[in-house]
Amino acid sequence: MKAVALFSGGLDSTLAIKVMVDQGTEVVALNFTSPFCRCQRGEGCSVPISSRAKDLGVTFKSMYLGEEYLEIVKNPKHGYGRNCNPCIDCRILKLKKARILMETIGASFLITGEVLGQRPMSQHREALRIIEKESGLEGLILRPLSAKLFEPTLPEKKGWVNREALLDISGRTRKPQIQLADQLGIKDYPCPAGGCLLADPGFSKRLRDIFQHDEFNLDNVELLKIGRHFRINPDYKLIVGRNEAENNRLSQFRRKPDLYFEPKDLPGPSGLGRGKTGFQVRQISSQIISRYVSENQKVNIVVSGGSEKNQEVLSVEAIEKDRLRELIIN
Ligand code: SF4
Repeated sequence: MKAVALFSGGLDSTLAIKVMVDQGTEVVALNFTSPFCRCQRGEGCSVPISSRAKDLGVTFKSMYLGEEYLEIVKNPKHGYGRNCNPCIDCRILKLKKARILMETIGASFLITGEVLGQRPMSQHREALRIIEKESGLEGLILRPLSAKLFEPTLPEKKGWVNREALLDISGRTRKPQIQLADQLGIKDYPCPAGGCLLADPGFSKRLRDIFQHDEFNLDNVELLKIGRHFRINPDYKLIVGRNEAENNRLSQFRRKPDLYFEPKDLPGPSGLGRGKTGFQVRQISSQIISRYVSENQKVNIVVSGGSEKNQEVLSVEAIEKDRLRELIIN
């Protein structure tokens, strides 16, 4: 039989696929990316996910979730977890997409690496029931790692898969999965720290700030991944690079109405100012940049407007530490 598996590249989904491949199931591994994926920043994945799928002997497909994903992040029907992670809505959206793929390629059921009780928001019985119902996949989601703890699914009832060869893992400990990985010869899996920025407290703090100030869009979300963020007033924020790579990335994100700050003749960070501009915000932004250049002397900061021609140089002292603490978001 053919099945579609949700494949994050992590240990659980890898094991779930391996268990099913070993039973003779033909698996298409579906990976989702979104603007909130850490892997897009090159973090966490020593081996590309498509190579992991190849090692498992399965077909790999990748799907990007953009604007429609932003919608569930902003207004999740089932709310957030500890941070800005709308896990239940996220799972529903991904499973709906997977269902479409399943129907398109003539697959008969879906596989996930979910483990009962492992994640507080999305992997307890009631959440799993809601996710299954709202994605239109009742009875069709097989969770090989915890299957024996659930009522048999359609593929088990029909005899498409052997229930006896499935597992009964539950809870937050990773020991059973690590033992199973050893048994099945799976090596070099990523750590379970997670690749989702929405579950990151610092990132969520920045995200809440742009929700609050009605600045939530794809472009501003990308900026949240770079630098230090300062809320100068409700209509204006400043992002300051923390290293050369971030300074370069900030310059790539520069849009026509943005302000751009750079120390003149001294090494130091660049800054990107976005929002309603005026002398006061140019002054404060320059003072913030100045703090990261020199604490004891006036620094000349080049402030550029929409074009290179539209430049001024402000000579400013570093902003006071207490004021800096008040303005920093994260
Ligand atoms: S941690 Fe992130 S990617 Fe995972 S289910 Fe939650 S919102 Fe979705």
